[in-house]
Amino acid sequence: MRSGPEAPQSEWQLKKGAQEIVKTETADPTRPTSAPRIRCPKCRWQPERASTWVCWSGPGPEPPFESCGTAWHTFDTGGRCPGCGHQWHWTTCLSCGEWSPHLDWYENPAQED
Ligand SMILES: [Zn+2]
Ligand SMILES: [Zn+2]
Repeated sequence: MRSGPEAPQSEWQLKKGAQEIVKTETADPTRPTSAPRIRCPKCRWQPERASTWVCWSGPGPEPPFESCGTAWHTFDTGGRCPGCGHQWHWTTCLSCGEWSPHLDWYENPAQED
């Protein structure tokens, strides 16, 4: 029973090839994250974790309603006030102050730039 020099070598090459396949499958830096990106449609400002909006019915495109004054992160609830349950359809930008439809803040993952 003799083990030729070819046997260990081909085994090593097989291992090396397998490792390379795994590598190319996992390394994908361009893969989009599952969470939608949120940006102001007007100025591209991105809300921070500490950003808060106040439930206050004032001048703006949102139809007047009995606002409750609650402050919260509006993108945590999809624009719904946790205080009075009002569904905000418009969201004001804390950076540029412009109103935009709440849904326009969510970036479409298909429109990567
Ligand atoms: Zn409210
Ligand atoms: Zn803005």
